[in-house]
Formats: sequence, structure tokens, C-alpha cells
Amino acid sequence: MTINLLDTTLRDGEQTRGVSFSPQEKLSIVKMLLKEVKINRVEVTSARVSEGELESVKAICEWAKKENLLEKIEVLGFVDGEKSIDWLVKAGCKKLNLLAKGSEKHCRKQLRKSPKQHFEDVKKLIENANSKGIGVNVYFEDWSNGMRNSKEYVFDFAKVLAKTNIEQLMLPDTLGILSPSEVKKYILEMKQFFPIEKMDFHAHNDYGVATANSLTAVEVGVSCVHCTINGLGERTGNTPLAELVAVLNDLSEFKTSVDEKSLVKVSRFVEQISGKKNPSNKPIVGENVFTQTAGIHADGDAKGNLYASALTPERFGRKREYALGKLSGKASLEHNLKKLKIDLTDEQKKLVLKEIILLGDKKKTITSEDLPFIISDILKTPLTEKVKILECEVSSSIKGKPTAFLKIKINNAELNSEAEGNGGYDAFMIALKKIALKQKIPLPKLLDYAVTIPPGGKTNALVETTITWGNKDDEFRTIGVDSDQLMASVKATEKMLNLIIE
Ligand SMILES: [Zn+2]
Repeated sequence: MTINLLDTTLRDGEQTRGVSFSPQEKLSIVKMLLKEVKINRVEVTSARVSEGELESVKAICEWAKKENLLEKIEVLGFVDGEKSIDWLVKAGCKKLNLLAKGSEKHCRKQLRKSPKQHFEDVKKLIENANSKGIGVNVYFEDWSNGMRNSKEYVFDFAKVLAKTNIEQLMLPDTLGILSPSEVKKYILEMKQFFPIEKMDFHAHNDYGVATANSLTAVEVGVSCVHCTINGLGERTGNTPLAELVAVLNDLSEFKTSVDEKSLVKVSRFVEQISGKKNPSNKPIVGENVFTQTAGIHADGDAKGNLYASALTPERFGRKREYALGKLSGKASLEHNLKKLKIDLTDEQKKLVLKEIILLGDKKKTITSEDLPFIISDILKTPLTEKVKILECEVSSSIKGKPTAFLKIKINNAELNSEAEGNGGYDAFMIALKKIALKQKIPLPKLLDYAVTIPPGGKTNALVETTITWGNKDDEFRTIGVDSDQLMASVKATEKMLNLIIE
């Protein structure tokens, strides 16, 4: 049995404070969602937002039409006579998600209309839309409060809609106030007046139970649940796509049509363009969710996957990692040494482990990429540094662009380069790219750049810069520490060069 998912990142998700997507970004997200993630439906905007939005939706619909996916593109519209319908016709969109009032309070207070009048308006609008070739789904806005405070109103409205030609009745928990047991109770009550197989459920995460509520709605029998990438949305947001997919696939009788391997990519993409980073412990997509920190877990994994569950990193195209720190044991070290293809004697391993624990106690982050440096330090074997940044001068001023001068040694050859950039580090990277191009060294892409400044705000404190680099399937991080933020980044970059140059 499959369950359908509707993604509303571009409509409800865009209501996140400070988030706005460009038309090009919107089109890219729709393409990813429909072609790679293979989601069933996407809601791309609200009608009548702006001229710019109209052009953006036109482009999305044109693309979707060519791909035979136009039926999957939906737009939210209003009970406004002809206006929303006209907007959809202009945009070339074939699905209207009509926002009707799902509670008597909203109907009387906001619309200042009697329920009867409102139902009549909605009915007329559905007929009108259908006559123009547009299919209609109806949202019961504030449905959860409607069920709590004006059930008769909700049931009467559902009865009216059961006699119309609507495709889906969408039940939103607009304020995110429901518990899983209420979701179950209310949907079963609705079922007496409207076919449950034509119901959608739309959760919000105000109490942190959006995913649990969506799971409940699916178990009870609705045919579609709504979500957004990374759970973007107003306040605490909507149900996060990746987590919802994993929960439904693993914990319910149903399967989604989603390609699990595409979830991290689309999550990272939206992190980048929305500027809203996921916490590192966010299920499925968070940076550390597949990292074992405790040595005993690493040991258990080595002895036959004792700590593994159905939630494996491989499903999502990720890898299990083993953190190095004060809690890590010999097994974590061995996992990392194996990954780096480094052989050590037992005696050497003991020394390295001691140093890792010491550094971990000082709260220093240690990545597996740091290991070669730690090893060379302890064993006093000079690590053959293939790359050494000999000089780096960056000057910034209020006027003009920052410039960087760079002198670098690569495999015994000394090379110079200069460049301008949009910032100090940018200028440095452009200078470095010039050298890399001449030397035919393919540099990995910079995927993420994070600066950690210890609390206390002292200007002479050490700054730690963590840079995430990426080649096709391989992501790795390097860390640089310095009292100067820019130099910390330069050091992290130097480590990267030493790791990639043969
Ligand atoms: Zn919503």
C-alpha cells in the first residue's frame, strides 16, 4: 500500500521568517522533488501574491507540462470569486487548493459570513473552476479548532463538499495544537461525512508532534500527508520530509514513492538557499545522526553491527562515522584508521588514543582528517607535508576589494599568486585556484564554512574554522585553529590540500 505525500516547501515553507526563494530556485526545487525525490504532489505558491510570482509559476507549469507532470503542481487560492481562478488560468496551473474556513469562528469573525453563505460561495467556486478545466482540493483552514469548538459546522461543510466534485479534502492542524489521539478521533469522526480515502492531513510542529500526528493520520486511513523540506514553515514549521518518509516506510504498513537516497541532497540544497541550517541532530539529514560517539558502540559495530537499526546511513546515501574524542575507544580509532588506510602497531595506537582523549578533554573537535596530523605529532615522524603555505597576505579596506598574495610550496616547487575577491578568504581562494589550475590540481567544492568562536567574546581568543569540502560522492571536513579567523580558514584549507594532493 502506498501513501501519497504533498510537499509545500514553496508555499507554507516559504512562510518561514527570513526565507524567500528566487524563481530559479523554485524551479530547481520542483524539478528535484518531482524527478529525483519522486514526491506525489507539490504546492508551489499562493495565488495572487505578485507579478513576479506569476512568472515563476508559469515557468514551473511550462516545465511540468513538458514532463507530463502538470497534474502534480498545485497552487493555494482563496474564496474570492473569479480572482484566484483567473490567476491559475494565467499561470497555466491545473490544481487549485482552495482555502476555505474550517472553523465557525473563522467563518463568522474573519469572513463575516454565515456558514450557509460561505458553503454556497465555495460550491460556486468549485463549479466555476471545474468549468475552466481546473481541479479543486479544499483546505479546511483551522480545522483542528473547528473540531474542538464547532464540530457541527465542520460536519455540515463536509457533507456539502461530499456532494461536489472536489478531489481531496485537506485537513490542516493550522496552529499545531493536536495530539495524535485527537488526530485519530477527529479524522474517524470526519469519515462519517466524507470519504477518508479522499482526505489529506497537514500538520504543524508547535508541540514537536507533527510527524507523530502525520503517522497517526496515515494509520487511520487518509491518503496523503503534507510536509516541507527540512520542516521549513512558520513558527516551528511543518512535518519534515526526510523524517516523515523514514517513519512511514519503517513504522507504518504503508510505503512512500520517495527515493530515500535523494533526501540528503535536497535537504542540503534547501539549507543553502534558505540560509536555515539543520541542527546537527536532526533525524536523517543532521550532520551527526550517523556518528557513533561512544567507544562501546563502535566496538559493537565492529563485532557484528550490534547497535544498528533499520535506520541505516546507507539507505540515505550516507556513511556511518566514528567520532574521535574523550569517549571514543580503540574501536573508533580503528574504524578511522581503516578509512584513512593507515597502519599502526598496538603500541602506537595506544599513544594516539591517549592524545585523542587529551584533546577531547579540552573540548577540541577532532575529525578523522586530523588523525594524520596527530599521528605524526606523537610518533615524531615528520608528516611529509606535500603542501605548505609559506606566505599569505590579505589586505582589506573600506574602499576597494580585498586582495590576497599567496606563496605556496607544492611538492617542493614554490609558487606565487595574487587575486582580488569579495572578501579576504575569497581573494585567497581565487589566488589558490589560479595555482591549482596551472598545476592541474582539481580542488574540491567548498560546501560549508563554519566558524566557532569560544563564548566570552574576547578578541584574542582562538577561532576554529571548520570547512566541509566535497567531491562527487565524498564529503570531508578540515579544521583550522588560529587567533585570526582568516588564518584559521587558511590553515583548514592547507590541510585540505595535503589530503587531496598525491
Ligand atoms: Zn500550514
